[in-house]
Amino acid sequence: MKASVYYSKNDIRYEDLPVPELEEGDILLQMKSCGLCGTDIHKALHQTVTGPVVLGHEVAAEVVKVGKRVTRFRPGDRVVTAIHVPCFTCHYCDRGHYTLCEQFKPTHIEPGGFAEYIRLPELHVKHLTHKIPQEMSWEKAAMVEPVGCCLHGLKQAKISSGCSVLVMGCGTIGLLSAQLSAMMGAAKVIVSDLSPFKLELALRLGINHAINPARDDLEAQIQDMTDGFGVDVVIIAAGVSSLLPQAINLLRRGGRVVVFSPFDHHNMVNIDAGRFFRDEISVIGTYSLSPYEMPEAIEILRLNKINVDDMITHHYPLSQLTEAIEFAANPANDVLKIIMKMD
Ligand SMILES: [Zn+2]
Ligand SMILES: [Zn+2]
Repeated sequence: MKASVYYSKNDIRYEDLPVPELEEGDILLQMKSCGLCGTDIHKALHQTVTGPVVLGHEVAAEVVKVGKRVTRFRPGDRVVTAIHVPCFTCHYCDRGHYTLCEQFKPTHIEPGGFAEYIRLPELHVKHLTHKIPQEMSWEKAAMVEPVGCCLHGLKQAKISSGCSVLVMGCGTIGLLSAQLSAMMGAAKVIVSDLSPFKLELALRLGINHAINPARDDLEAQIQDMTDGFGVDVVIIAAGVSSLLPQAINLLRRGGRVVVFSPFDHHNMVNIDAGRFFRDEISVIGTYSLSPYEMPEAIEILRLNKINVDDMITHHYPLSQLTEAIEFAANPANDVLKIIMKMD
């Protein structure tokens, strides 16, 4: 089978790999669509993983073979899955922090989503894999995993009806989070980004307010829109840690910042620490998703509660992963979500 294998920054090879062998509890999937995630691009360009490795985790695929002990799936089923499975019994899992489970990160699909076929180990089959409706397109199905990740973060933001939300950064995570906030009842959803293309897209997706901080004074606008109170929730969905102090300044008393960005380790920032005691604000970190968000994400997309179709701006064949990453990483390009297509 073919796969796009990452070796190092400027070396991704479209090459032959053996089709993975199945154990009795596993299933083999034929990949149809796989989203190119910001974390894939980050891993490839900043070399935070050592090759050879097959990236890709936003999987939409068809079951082609099942192990002897598998009863829940059969060839022909259309499915989505995620890549990490918690153990459900450890210290963290007991407390509902599934993404912090020791078993979470080491669990993986084989070899990765940017391949023609992948093996799902038994744990993935049991806990993370779900059938999708016949009418859901493959590319839409590839958005289930990122939607699940955003739900995971937003649950902790405690969005209630009538509240105000600012999303900093209009990439895939930002625009999904903005739409999901509105779906959850937020009365005022504001997004900020430096890209006119992304701001325009945000408005097209139904977001109320789109602000370009290079042109307008973000702080003044937020004060204006919230009668001087600040917003209830800020979601940081851009990899710029200096947004954190700014986000804290934009919060109303009792407000919450959700950080959904892979800042580097020991990346220090100065914040107004007085606001925690005085104003009871919170800063919440979020990463990945738990198994419980997958069915919710499928349901949201099945019911078209948010618009993901217009977020998908480009498609690339599996053989052109290098080109896709270069295109996505160039700020001069009008691009949001890229889907790698195998069907
Ligand atoms: Zn992702
Ligand atoms: Zn665990």
